[in-house]
Amino acid sequence: MYQETIFSKIIRREIPADIVYQDDLVTAFRDISPQAPIHILIIPNKIIPTVNHVTAEDEQALGHLFVVAAKIVQQEGIDESGYRLIMNCNKDAGQEVFHLHMHLLGGKNLGKLIS
Ligand code: 5GP
Repeated sequence: MYQETIFSKIIRREIPADIVYQDDLVTAFRDISPQAPIHILIIPNKIIPTVNHVTAEDEQALGHLFVVAAKIVQQEGIDESGYRLIMNCNKDAGQEVFHLHMHLLGGKNLGKLIS
């Protein structure tokens, strides 16, 4: 069993968060420190610390992250204008919360990927 982070409390609704979607497999909520007009984190409800910890058992939940992302971008009205999906892993990517998460960013021109 992996160590809980603040995200487990958000999943269980023990601390406030602006949850935009939740089901049995995933939870999506607005980032507390948005880097774009729309910045949503989509996470598996199961704790997976990083992409390095992903196993075949996680295929359904992680595939579902993309299904939910496709739903949310429609809800947010950015499916046509565009958006970026990012997953950070470990130090060089600046990962801060060790509960795997997909950043969904949009609502403005995001520029080139790496600056
Ligand atoms: P990382 O750098 O690990 O890829 O991203 C972690 C993200 O989680 C950051 O963008 C940070 O702003 C966000 N975050 C950290 N703590 C909280 C929190 O308590 N609530 C919400 N909504 N977002 C958080």
